[in-house]
Amino acid sequence: MTLAILLSALAMTLIVGVRYLLASAGFALATRVRQPGLYRGLDRQIRREISWSLASAAIYGIPAGIVAWGWQARGWTLVYRDVHAYPIWWLPLSVLAYLAAHDTWFYWTHRWMHAPRPFRIAHAVHHASRPPTAWAAMAFHPWEALTGAVVIPTLVFVIPIHIGALAVVLTIMTLMGVTNHMGWELFPRWLVEGRAGRWLITASHHQRHHQEYRCNYGLYFRVWDRLCGTDKGLGRFDRGG
Ligand SMILES: [Zn+2]
Ligand SMILES: [Zn+2]
Repeated sequence: MTLAILLSALAMTLIVGVRYLLASAGFALATRVRQPGLYRGLDRQIRREISWSLASAAIYGIPAGIVAWGWQARGWTLVYRDVHAYPIWWLPLSVLAYLAAHDTWFYWTHRWMHAPRPFRIAHAVHHASRPPTAWAAMAFHPWEALTGAVVIPTLVFVIPIHIGALAVVLTIMTLMGVTNHMGWELFPRWLVEGRAGRWLITASHHQRHHQEYRCNYGLYFRVWDRLCGTDKGLGRFDRGG
């Protein structure tokens, strides 16, 4: 049993690590095509971003691996395989519920980590990326990584979700983590600056957090930032931020 848990944790660490490397490499390549020279002179920073991110992969992989083992071997969690186990409308709603719960957790822990002491101890690592690149998606100090790593493994015990919907959540999590840091806007202007953009977070919004620190704390949605008066609107993409 111990070996099975260990193997599951190891497998999850590998999955998270490879997923990070592929997603970040893909968008770093896209950056080279779309914004040649954007990461010029950032080689040392990028190496650091990759090291912290790979350490984070283990911190994310271990709790995920333990829970995945429990799901398979012990029937833990509310993750279901039969798509008809819950009404079909629950599929998209469960995705939204996971994103909203994660966003809420992230907003408040992130805001807390901007207090001087937690910032110094944990969050400074993430902000050492100036400006962040596509490799910064998981560049967190282990303490900060831990606050992120517990989210999905906890939610699966609280909110029922189909395994496919969970895969969608994890894909959105990975893609937004990478694209929000890559230094240019991937999504079309009509979306970012339109009605949907008033509520959704993309690179333009998170860039401003990295430039000004004390605003735009959210992860997926601007709801908490707007409610709490911490939303400063979209940032600009000039180097040196
Ligand atoms: Zn960031
Ligand atoms: Zn921050």
